[in-house]
Amino acid sequence: MRKNIKPKNPTSNSTVLLVGRLSGPKNTVLLNILRQVAPRVIRQVSRARFVVVGGPVTEEHRKLEKQFSYLSFEGHQKKLEPYYRKAAVVVGAGRVALEAMNLKRPVVAIGERKYVGPLLPEKIEEAKATNFGDCWDEESFDWAQMVRDLTNLLKSSDVRKKVIQTGYDLVQKEYNMARVFPKMEFLYGQVLLEKNLSSLHELPVLMYHRVSPTAPASSKHNLQISQAEMERHLLFLRDRGFEAIGFEDLLTRKIPRKPIILTFDDGYEDNYRYLFPLLRKHKMKIVMFLLGNRKHKTNFWDAADGEEPAALLKPGQILEMAKSGLVEFGAHSLNHSKLTELGSKEIEREVVGSKKALETFLKKPVLSFAYPYGFTNEKIKKITQVAGFTFGIAVNTGPTRFGKDLLEIRRIHMFPNTSPFKYFKKTSGYYLRYRGLLGK
Ligand SMILES: [Zn+2]
Repeated sequence: MRKNIKPKNPTSNSTVLLVGRLSGPKNTVLLNILRQVAPRVIRQVSRARFVVVGGPVTEEHRKLEKQFSYLSFEGHQKKLEPYYRKAAVVVGAGRVALEAMNLKRPVVAIGERKYVGPLLPEKIEEAKATNFGDCWDEESFDWAQMVRDLTNLLKSSDVRKKVIQTGYDLVQKEYNMARVFPKMEFLYGQVLLEKNLSSLHELPVLMYHRVSPTAPASSKHNLQISQAEMERHLLFLRDRGFEAIGFEDLLTRKIPRKPIILTFDDGYEDNYRYLFPLLRKHKMKIVMFLLGNRKHKTNFWDAADGEEPAALLKPGQILEMAKSGLVEFGAHSLNHSKLTELGSKEIEREVVGSKKALETFLKKPVLSFAYPYGFTNEKIKKITQVAGFTFGIAVNTGPTRFGKDLLEIRRIHMFPNTSPFKYFKKTSGYYLRYRGLLGK
């Protein structure tokens, strides 16, 4: 047990509670607060204390703790509520801000990218737009302003009350429990995901596009596979003991010993006509990536290359497939844009916009995002993660082993007229390690 955060005199509670991960950019922000803000606040409010909850607590943190008597590191805590309740001010972003506001604590919003400040009415839009400071193009931290804000809050119960009211109203109005609850579920999903990943030998992810009734005519991009050939692939995998899963299975159940993920990009109508019956027949699951913008009726983006136009799925077809449990849907941007050619704001619009549109339409969380053309980079991956996607799906990039980078998952491109066996052998070195596949 470390120092108790309970103040000696409850009426003079002046604890500033900081909650968050003590690594990466969050840690950098925290250290800045402790070095540049805390000492100046103490000079004006001598009774103030700074309590940090989160881990990992390193030597550097312990050194600071020794240096400043008003500072304590409590390490990672499973139950945060008692800390929120005892705090005069809670400093944080995202989930921390939401939880504190819900418990009627005054929140000073600061995230990885930006200092937003106390949640007063005039700050609400900024706080929402930046996820309380976690998402912003340019880093923007006004430490002097933070000193003034914290001092004000600690000195004036009127200011605290106003901030409490603003935050509580916001959480009731826009982040009510019906919305927060799936986020809690999501946290449990992350734990299961880690367990699944740690027990995973390998998880190949295959990439398909169109499925046609007969052998495809010429197609520049080799996007089509015939229904008969598709069925041969499914039987091939099943005969070798593979169990086709979706990305959601990684977060919701213990996955089978020999899992595989079959993905289909763009959401072509022929998938409904020629693939879906096969999935029903063989009880196999796939993941399909859809555009968030439902105004697009065909693959307009391939037209410039002389690809024949192909119809995209209609809403009723999508919902029927979703209901079957055999098709998990992921996002594929709003407009099939080359994200690497866009600015941050536009990327965000494509990524966040497609998630929102599909979740509203499907009435369930959308966990995966397939980068159009497989084009991605660190910035795009970060935006995808912040948008709430657990899985970012690439094509020919990313680590060969599944789980090493969930935001850049490499796929095996399945061309027509290549037996899966030959294809695996030819292109996927890592696949050879997969026990049982080449044993036959
Ligand atoms: Zn695509």
